[in-house]
Amino acid sequence: MNSLGSALEALETFLLFSDLLVEYPFPMTADLMDKIVALAKRRGFIFQSSEIYGGLNGAWDYGPFGVELKRNVKEAWWKATVHFRDDVVGLDAAILMHPRTWEASGHTANFADMMADCKNTNCSWRGRIDQLKNGKCPKCGGKDLTQPRAFNLMLKTSLGAMEDSSSVVYLRPETAQGIFVNFANVIDSMHRKLPFGIAQIGKSFRNEITPGNFTFRTREFEQMETEYFCRPEQALEKYEEWIKARFQWYLDLGMKKENLKLRVHDKDELAHYAAGCTDVEYNFPFGWSELEGIANRGDYDLKQHAKFSGKDLQYQDPVTNEKFFPHVIEPSGGCDRATLAFLVDAYHEETVNDTLRVVMKFHPKLAPIKVAVLPLLKKNEGIVALAKKIKSELQKDMVCVYDDTAAIGKLYRRQDEVGTVFCVTVDVQSLEDKQVTVRFRDTMQQERIPVERLLGYLKEKLS
Ligand code: ATP
Repeated sequence: MNSLGSALEALETFLLFSDLLVEYPFPMTADLMDKIVALAKRRGFIFQSSEIYGGLNGAWDYGPFGVELKRNVKEAWWKATVHFRDDVVGLDAAILMHPRTWEASGHTANFADMMADCKNTNCSWRGRIDQLKNGKCPKCGGKDLTQPRAFNLMLKTSLGAMEDSSSVVYLRPETAQGIFVNFANVIDSMHRKLPFGIAQIGKSFRNEITPGNFTFRTREFEQMETEYFCRPEQALEKYEEWIKARFQWYLDLGMKKENLKLRVHDKDELAHYAAGCTDVEYNFPFGWSELEGIANRGDYDLKQHAKFSGKDLQYQDPVTNEKFFPHVIEPSGGCDRATLAFLVDAYHEETVNDTLRVVMKFHPKLAPIKVAVLPLLKKNEGIVALAKKIKSELQKDMVCVYDDTAAIGKLYRRQDEVGTVFCVTVDVQSLEDKQVTVRFRDTMQQERIPVERLLGYLKEKLS
């Protein structure tokens, strides 16, 4: 960067500090989660649902930067799971399904959490019994609790004009069943041979007793699920392959290895039909918690749907004509949980010229904005025109923004806070030498690049 630019950045950095203190006090003593929640709201990542009415517990809205981030997470998952593999196809099933689906899957009878209430009249605690501390109320420590009772987590609604038991349907509590009920359709239309998978991303709903930890546990969320069908004797090998692939996916998107681990489920945690389950866990500020589970589910699901629907859901081997129910490996992740983990992992603070710099170090593939084009002097028509022209060219290939609403140091910091990978600054000199200054978010290093090489340069760095 030229010396004028550096001097301005130093000045703006200084001014910014006082601004930060006035407008955006950082709770330096509060924990990381508080900072993430505050940043998410202040910078347009995540807002409370229907906040103007006091909010709705367990539901969140993604703001302008949040929606880009979450779309990038889903896009990265779809590419890795569907487009970059020859053995997986996609699906987008309806949220509303025939109620028999949930009888077959076992959700109507068993998809419940055990809950209890504290009988202490001064304490209104109600929650899952796995939250009890040594059998005592986690809020007041009291021992007088109601008997545990099952609470079904499926959200009910009714279809059509009549509201009676025959019109009851559920908002799906998982996307997986939409895949199983389409198993035969996919085989028939796509002529797939084992092993192959069907993947989908979509909304799921659970009436969680205690939603919390920001977007970690919500009542409406998105899942990214694959059902991978294989011969029974391949199941163990495929299970292990998927565990590795799913763990690697987070690493490939820049998640810190020390913040990720695998947790193998104990036998007593497994469903009666499952041969194994391994969770990918993330080291959230509130503790290690599940990002996704990879389950070796045997042939339970297809068998159940065959039984309840009366349809033949067996696979017929095209060579031997042998018929059997394939076994299923199910990597099942939460899009909102992954997005939250990427937010936490990207959060970075450092001191620059005695001032705090908050920077979201998202992987370039996940960053909501790839490039910000910034005119150094917004009153100079030549500079503004060139900056706008550069932006309109770049936006054909990457998500970019133009911003001239503050001086350069402040603009840089704003972009750092939302994780914009590059800032391109147009200055007086640019009008003469047709070069611009490109500043990289993580190192703040700057380079002069000819405008005609800019697109190629950025594409290479962002790939
Ligand atoms: P948990 O034990 O945390 O309730 P789970 O084991 O019931 O999760 P699954 O049924 O295996 O979760 O769902 C697969 C994935 O869907 C989870 O790994 C998680 O990422 C996501 N998910 C499940 N429930 C929620 C929720 N209430 N809010 C956000 N994401 C969720």
